[in-house]
Amino acid sequence: MVKETGFYDTLGVKPCATPDELKRAYRKLALKYHPDKNPTEGEKFKQISQAYEVLSDAKKREVYDRGGEKAIKEGGTGGSGGSFASPMDIFDLFFGGTRMHRERKGKNIVHQITVTLEDLYNGATRKLAVQKNAICEKCQGHGCRKGATQMCMSCQGTGVQIRVQQLVLGLVHQMSTVCQACQGQGQRINPKDRCKCCGGRKIIRQKKVLDVHIDKGMKDGQKIVFHGEGDQDPGLEPGDIIFVLDQREHHQFKRRSQDLIMSMELQLVEALCGFKKPVKTLDNRTLIITSHPGELIKPGDTKCVLNEGMPTYRRPYEKGRLIIHFSILFPQANFLPENKLKELERYFPEKTDAEQSESMDEDLYIYADLEDFDPQTRRRHRRHQYHFVDDDEHESTGGVQCQTS
Ligand SMILES: [Zn+2]
Ligand SMILES: [Zn+2]
Repeated sequence: MVKETGFYDTLGVKPCATPDELKRAYRKLALKYHPDKNPTEGEKFKQISQAYEVLSDAKKREVYDRGGEKAIKEGGTGGSGGSFASPMDIFDLFFGGTRMHRERKGKNIVHQITVTLEDLYNGATRKLAVQKNAICEKCQGHGCRKGATQMCMSCQGTGVQIRVQQLVLGLVHQMSTVCQACQGQGQRINPKDRCKCCGGRKIIRQKKVLDVHIDKGMKDGQKIVFHGEGDQDPGLEPGDIIFVLDQREHHQFKRRSQDLIMSMELQLVEALCGFKKPVKTLDNRTLIITSHPGELIKPGDTKCVLNEGMPTYRRPYEKGRLIIHFSILFPQANFLPENKLKELERYFPEKTDAEQSESMDEDLYIYADLEDFDPQTRRRHRRHQYHFVDDDEHESTGGVQCQTS
C-alpha cells in the first residue's frame, strides 16, 4: 500500500504503526543515538529525527505513503515541505524542552530509566547519578578572580570579527566570524589569573545524585522532570534533567491503560467441571481465580477480576481490571479406551451421526477422512491417494476424485 518503507524501517516499525508505536520507537532510538551518548552516530540520529518528523505529522505521513521520500523532499506538504527541522529541535520538542527557551536556558539532560511493571504497580525509588555542567563555585562563573578580565581588543568586546573581502569591480563582501582571540567571549583573561578550579572555563563537570520517585500507576514513556537540575551555563537559566520511563515487558501481564491483561490455559476438565487457579499479583499476593459452580469456560472466553488491574496515577487506590483470556487445552488423542468413550458420551447432548439417519443408502454415502490442515498443501500427496481398482479404469472403490491435476 505504501510506496516505500525507508522511514518506517529507520524507526523499526511497520507501515501500519499507530502514532503511539511511532512515539515509542522514536523515543528509544533518539535516546540511544543522541550525540551526548553516541558522538559517532550523528548521521543515524539525523535519520531517526527526519523519519519521525515526517511520520508523526499525519499530513506529511500521507504524502510520504503516497509518494515516498521524493515527494517529501519536493515539498508536497505545502508550507514548510522540503526541508527538515534540526534533529536537536525535534528531540527537544519531543522531550519537553521548548525551542523558544533554548537560547536562554542551559541544555536539558535526558535519561531513560528501565522499570518493571512491578515498579509501576508498587512505586519505587531509584538513586541515579547524572553528570552535568555546573557553574564553577570558586570563581562564580567568571573564570578568574574578580576584575581580572579585560575587554578583548580584537573584537572590541563583541565576540565577533568582521572580515571584509575585496571582490572584483569594487564589490565588497562582509563576513562575520567568531573572534579567534577570545573564542567569542568578548573578554580575555590573563593566563596567570585564570581560575585554578575550572581552568578559566567558568563551568566544571559535576556528578549529581538524584532520588527519582516512580509513583504508583506511572506509565511507560512518562517523564519525571527535575526542573533546573540540568546543565548550567553562565548567563543562562539552568536546563532540566528529564527521566523517561521505559517499561520492560512483563512475562505474564500486558498493560492497557489501567487494565492488566493475561492469558490462562485450562485443561478441558477444568473448563467443563470448574477450577481454582493461582495467579501471582505484581505485589506478590496470590489470587485464586475461581469459576462459578456449573459454569463452563469456552475457548476464547474473556473474563475479568475487578480492582486487580493497575493503580491509577495519583489515585493509587483506584485500580483497573485484571482481564483474562482463556484457551482450552484438549486431552491427547486416545486418552480414553473406546469403551470408556462410549460411556463418556452419555453425559453429553446427543450426537447427530450420519449413521443414525433412517434413509441410509450406502451408495450415496462417501466417508471422507479429515487431515491436518496445511495452508501450503492443496493436493493430496501421491502415497496417500485412495486405491483405484486397476483392472477396470472406469470403476473405482474410493469415490473421492483426488487426481493431482
Ligand atoms: Zn574577541
Ligand atoms: Zn572557576
